[in-house]
Amino acid sequence: MSETARVVIVGAGHGGGNLCTALRQAGHRGPITLIGDEPHLPYHRPPLSKAYLKGEATVESLRLRPAEYFAKVDIDLRLGTTVTHVDGEARTVALDDGAVLPFDVLVLATGSRARRLPIPGAELAGILHLRDLADADAIRAAVVPGSALAIVGGGYIGLEVAASAIALGAKPILLEREDRILARVACEPLAAFFDQYHRAQGVDIRTGVRIVSFVGADRVTGIRLEDGSIISCDAALVGVGAQLCDGLAREAGISCEEGGVVVDANARTSVPGIYAIGDMSWRPMPLYGDRMFRLESVPNAIEQGRRVAADIMGKPQPAHEVPWFWSDQYALKLQIAGIPFDSHRLVVRGSYEEAKFAIWHLSDANRVLAVEAVNMPGEFMAGRTLIGAGRLVDLGRLADMAVSIKDIVKAV
Ligand SMILES: Cc1cc2nc3c(=O)[nH]c(=O)nc-3n(C[C@H](O)[C@H](O)[C@H](O)COP(=O)(O)OP(=O)(O)OC[C@H]3O[C@@H](n4cnc5c(N)ncnc54)[C@H](O)[C@@H]3O)c2cc1C
Repeated sequence: MSETARVVIVGAGHGGGNLCTALRQAGHRGPITLIGDEPHLPYHRPPLSKAYLKGEATVESLRLRPAEYFAKVDIDLRLGTTVTHVDGEARTVALDDGAVLPFDVLVLATGSRARRLPIPGAELAGILHLRDLADADAIRAAVVPGSALAIVGGGYIGLEVAASAIALGAKPILLEREDRILARVACEPLAAFFDQYHRAQGVDIRTGVRIVSFVGADRVTGIRLEDGSIISCDAALVGVGAQLCDGLAREAGISCEEGGVVVDANARTSVPGIYAIGDMSWRPMPLYGDRMFRLESVPNAIEQGRRVAADIMGKPQPAHEVPWFWSDQYALKLQIAGIPFDSHRLVVRGSYEEAKFAIWHLSDANRVLAVEAVNMPGEFMAGRTLIGAGRLVDLGRLADMAVSIKDIVKAV
């Protein structure tokens, strides 16, 4: 590739928006076109379930960069525009306004959309999802003091919305199919802590329930469960995971798996000159061996963008990052470094009662695989360092709160 290559980026979200910056910072001088189907400048999605939902952030404050920035660094920004087709051989993309744009390099950053539940009543008014600003506005309008909000799904989005709904004076009832919340994304002790914490704040959590339909004439008034009972509600948020926007890639014959568009460590797809970044990619993570992962997080989208910029510019790649994620609920700041699965043993530092603790995930040889930290940013940072270093820790010292985490990091 070269510093003057014509770059087209599909998807003006977190990955696409940041990639423009990464490319210009790396010295790219050629034309860059950023195409997004939403009417908004690239923005931060995490506040949609948190500060923005609670009315503590504005649309302007969510923007990654102001409009002038994109003009200043000469990005051809096409908002409210959908890419309808990618032709990998002719090296063009077709837009819904009839334009056909040639590219030397194409970056797919189309993310995902909220998964719908294919059950009767799913089209009723008052059934809400959360992926973009328009969704968040609809939830804000529905979640008024005293209203009953049913939340289907006990993952991070469901829990964050539950916490925001409590702050707004609403009454959330959370329905989870599995026998615990956060079943796919957190270890059992962490999930148990969040379960208890939410209940204490007033969230009605029901696990192990299967919902069979939404009930209501025009608007949802309840959710029918498998046992025939009905949970009454004024609105229902469905937070049951994401569905990838990988249609363009599949149609273009780019290699895809169920987990996403298959990419290498530098986000290159099976077609030369075409990359895929962010939520839609199915990527390796050298720190975790040969396995492939789909990471739905802001740091992941940013890291892949940086690697794409370096690859296009022929610059040395930055070191591989330890994956990380965060979630804010009430006064709890959860930070996760690494992938919290397949651990051999857990070591807890701190106190669940004081809502200040870190759960360390270790391999059988006591290598740090992941850390889930609540209100303990120092432990989270230490975890990132130790995971990245791939070194073994002394189990006795780690389990001893009298030994500071800084000393443990220093020792390895
Ligand atoms: C409510 C919510 C809370 C979150 N909280 C956190 C958090 O606390 N921490 C964290 O790390 N992550 C969080 N995330 C996840 C994080 O926001 C995503 O991982 C990140 O936005 C992924 O970036 P992306 O560029 O892959 O996709 P996106 O940011 O989703 O951008 C994709 C864009 O492409 C557009 N698009 C799709 N198809 C086309 C097309 N054919 N033509 C043109 N445009 C198209 C989409 O409309 C979208 O604007 C949260 C997400 C949500 C929804």
